[in-house]
Amino acid sequence: MFVISGPSGAGKGTVIQELLRRRPEIALSISVTTRPARPQERNGVHYTFVSESEFKGMRDRGELLESARVHGNFYGTPRPPVEAALASGRDVICELDIQGAESVKRSKPEAILIFIEPPSMDDLHRRLRNRGTESPNDMSTRIDAAYAEIKRKEVYDHIVINDRLEDAVGDLVRILDS
Ligand code: 5GP
Repeated sequence: MFVISGPSGAGKGTVIQELLRRRPEIALSISVTTRPARPQERNGVHYTFVSESEFKGMRDRGELLESARVHGNFYGTPRPPVEAALASGRDVICELDIQGAESVKRSKPEAILIFIEPPSMDDLHRRLRNRGTESPNDMSTRIDAAYAEIKRKEVYDHIVINDRLEDAVGDLVRILDS
């Protein structure tokens, strides 16, 4: 199991999509979230979008491998698809925040934690602005969270700097293959 984390705007989504194009045998965990969908996001593809009561029901029934509150919304990793993929010998990638990464490491110590870092904070600001999907208030929450996350990156087994997409994906492939 591979956990990928990194600040909002570090380009995790793009790096993961490119990795999956090169390694289609890897299973990607689709998280559930109570966050409203962004315009380009599709239910069941980027996330499964649920209400808060649906989320709490899943969590209380033990259907989530881990769950956390991030930027005021709930996110969680559905357990059955991850267990099924691992049981069939597939590698699984989960994109989680640091709370999720630490909780997976506790329940599955063999999991490999990877942190994707932007080349600089200026770059992160620019990417978030260009994405244009967050309100100014949400953007500043995410920038504050980015500083906090980068300070704690020593929790991770590997750090990948996403400067050029090709290089970042190459680094990830090497980590997975090793
Ligand atoms: P976003 O709203 O930008 O899609 O995600 C916000 C944060 O939530 C990101 O740091 C992302 O990695 C994290 N996240 C997404 N899905 C999950 C999940 O299932 N569990 C946890 N713990 N964090 C998640």
